[in-house]
Amino acid sequence: MNDQSLDPAGLLKCPSCGTKVPSLFKLTADDIQRRFSPEETGFYMRVCSDCVNSLRRAARLEVRYKSKEMLRNASFTIPPLSLAFYALFRTWTGPVFLITTVIFLTAGATVFKETGQRYAYTHNLVWSLRNRRVTIGFSITCAIIIAAALSQIARFG
Ligand SMILES: [Zn+2]
Repeated sequence: MNDQSLDPAGLLKCPSCGTKVPSLFKLTADDIQRRFSPEETGFYMRVCSDCVNSLRRAARLEVRYKSKEMLRNASFTIPPLSLAFYALFRTWTGPVFLITTVIFLTAGATVFKETGQRYAYTHNLVWSLRNRRVTIGFSITCAIIIAAALSQIARFG
């Protein structure tokens, strides 16, 4: 055991989160979803029980971004933004199309980039799509589509 991590009270410092705990645990190969445990690959590391659990969840790509939170983010983003874009489309005579297109493409690109990077790394589409950045980016593109549709209806309907 490393003397540096041992403090006078006999508590051990978790190298991952820095919390002082009475005992640290070994990570197994199964914990990190690899063929070999960290120890077998020459990487000696024991962590606290909280870190074992969070490392296990991370290795299994458990989605921590809850559907409820995703819905909340989307519902707090889409209606106000739709209204804002709608007001913009109806009132502003400046280069509204150009600016909206830039915002639309930026949001769309963010969704693709974020999802693409996550997918390239994990090959898990659900995990790749379920995160805040993708939700917000997607909400912005939805808001623009809704606002555009509403202003078309208002104009011709
Ligand atoms: Zn820890």
